[in-house]
Amino acid sequence: MADADEVARKLGHAAAGDLILHLPLRYQDETRLTPLRDARLGETVQVEGRVVHAEVRPGPRRQLVVEIEETGDGSARLFFRLLHFYPSQVAQLRPGARVRLYGEIRPGFFGAEMVHPQCRLVREDTPLPETLTPVYPSVAGLSQNTVRKAVAAALATADLADSLSDSSSDSLSDGLPGRLGLPTFAEALTALHHPPPDADLAALETRAAPAWRRIKFDELLAQQLSLRLAARRRQTLTAPVLAGDGGLGARLLAGLPFGLTGAQRRALAEIHADLAGARPMNRLLQGDVGSGKTLVAALAVLPALAAGRQVAVMAPTEILAEQLYLKFAEWLAPLGIAVVWLAAALKGKAKKQALADIESGAAPVAVGTHALFQAGVGFRDLALAVVDEQHRFGVGQRLALRDKGADGKGATPHLLMMSATPIPRTLAMSYYADLDVSVIDELPPGRTPVVTKLVSARRRDEVIGRLRDYCRTGAQAYWVCPLVEESEKLQLRAAEDSHAELVARLPELAIGLVHGRMKADEKAAVMAAFKAGALHLLVATTVIEVGVDVPNAALMVIEHAERYGLAQLHQLRGRVGRGARESACVLLYEEPLSETARQRLRVIRDHADGFVIAREDLRLRGPGEFLGARQSGQRILRFADPETDTDLLEQARDVAGTLLADDAGAVERHLARWLPRGFDYLRA
Ligand code: ADP
Ligand code: MG
Repeated sequence: MADADEVARKLGHAAAGDLILHLPLRYQDETRLTPLRDARLGETVQVEGRVVHAEVRPGPRRQLVVEIEETGDGSARLFFRLLHFYPSQVAQLRPGARVRLYGEIRPGFFGAEMVHPQCRLVREDTPLPETLTPVYPSVAGLSQNTVRKAVAAALATADLADSLSDSSSDSLSDGLPGRLGLPTFAEALTALHHPPPDADLAALETRAAPAWRRIKFDELLAQQLSLRLAARRRQTLTAPVLAGDGGLGARLLAGLPFGLTGAQRRALAEIHADLAGARPMNRLLQGDVGSGKTLVAALAVLPALAAGRQVAVMAPTEILAEQLYLKFAEWLAPLGIAVVWLAAALKGKAKKQALADIESGAAPVAVGTHALFQAGVGFRDLALAVVDEQHRFGVGQRLALRDKGADGKGATPHLLMMSATPIPRTLAMSYYADLDVSVIDELPPGRTPVVTKLVSARRRDEVIGRLRDYCRTGAQAYWVCPLVEESEKLQLRAAEDSHAELVARLPELAIGLVHGRMKADEKAAVMAAFKAGALHLLVATTVIEVGVDVPNAALMVIEHAERYGLAQLHQLRGRVGRGARESACVLLYEEPLSETARQRLRVIRDHADGFVIAREDLRLRGPGEFLGARQSGQRILRFADPETDTDLLEQARDVAGTLLADDAGAVERHLARWLPRGFDYLRA
């Protein structure tokens, strides 16, 4: 048998002991035998019989066909076929052998049959299992049998069976599970791995059974405990006290043709209050696309600069970072504050100089991508880090950032994150429990609402014609290429194809192309040309999804809109409607459109508010994906779902408070079980 630790690792766990929490997907009832004559078509059953005849049928699909009869009386017969088999099986399945099969009865050529059932040779007196047989999540190359044995061994080692009656295996103190209406840990695990034959299978499979609720509660509790402990640790850290901007903000605002919105002012006041405190700020600035977060950020950093300290500003992509750089430079340069641009393309001397200035403190503000900052940039005096579009970073990255910032004087820098992706309340309560949030819930005045149209791709020619007329009036437009999730190469090809086609069909227009595979300086050149109005049309992949700000571009066409997520479409659409021009977004979709896809596109067409869109998105696709791969690389919670397990989440929150206040032992036991290697949900 494979080494238990190795089995565990293949299944995505760190060690064999973790397999006790490798929970079944479903169960097979092998506790009963159905007499052959009672086996009905369409039913999944376990039967036993004696082999009458077995033969290998040659042909393109070689198979082993076996006929069995009821043991003893031969009163009924059944065929079964094995599609993959070993010579040893052919040898074993000789007439007279006794077999136990588990599978679905289907109509076959010779009557009822099973196709590739689970098949075991048994002796006269092989007892039936007394509990349901678990079917575990597995991976290629690991059979159910191997997984079952490894999990059973882990359970035996954990010695839960003996402690069913006492509470020594429970991380929660005596009586607490009962008061919460939950089983003990040992009861829960036994009920999940080896449920009795009369278990409520529906409740097990929908994860609503008490045993499941206990596991989910435990997981949520561990998360709450670890978040609260992290918040406590943060309260023990000191940060630079940054009070007042020495009039810089007033000067910056005096140079703008507009004033702050009320919401921007409120958010800014909250940030400045944090900076004036001695604890590191950990604040998320949330505001819909176009709500003016960048300006708030630029004003927010002024107290740090007034105090002569340094500020880092970062974005997930080069294009975004550059947009930020341009804005910061535009607003801060008139105040006599130099902004350093840490472009990936920076080479040789220029790069050395930039890094040296950051290290010496001569550069008060540095803007770049997260990657660049990670690659060994040392600040002399970092007091505040600003992270734009934080939803594109993993939760772990934001923490790493904070760790990195320590300035050698024992102070931790403040952290300001920005995001246009609203976090639903329940998620905020769990994943983001250690975060303070400021919301900009108002758009600057004078925005022209974007008219969104759903247009079948069959009318593509017509759309291209309209685009020509539109650009001839001096307006600019985006053409967003289809998303090809499977392959960046294919995506690039799609973008190049669209570009070539549009160039051929619209010879009178200047058309640029920008995509993720381009070198940073090539990208920057195309973006600059578009911004300067030298290009009518910009063909782009999702690299323009966020941050790009060209007010004269007021029309956007998105190809294969049905392939995009709603949040992405909303972000993309946010690139238009930034100036005084009437703006439109055309969502080209490929027919036929599934009902859900149609509903999703209608949400985008009918709503402009990112919060409403996020809520509808959640409703249409369920919360599992909300913090999906793109955000964190892995699901942070394995069992619980904060959106549907709200009651458990609230219980876990309360219990976490009580335990932290008066049961340090339980806290320790619980975290030792759920975060055995000091695993931190924040770093997941
Ligand atoms: P986002 O919140 O999506 O990052 P931006 O910061 O890019 O939005 O702002 C969008 C545009 O609105 C920018 O051109 C910015 O200069 C402008 N803007 C910001 N604040 C205001 C305001 N109070 N009044 C008018 N325009 C504003
Ligand atoms: Mg922005």
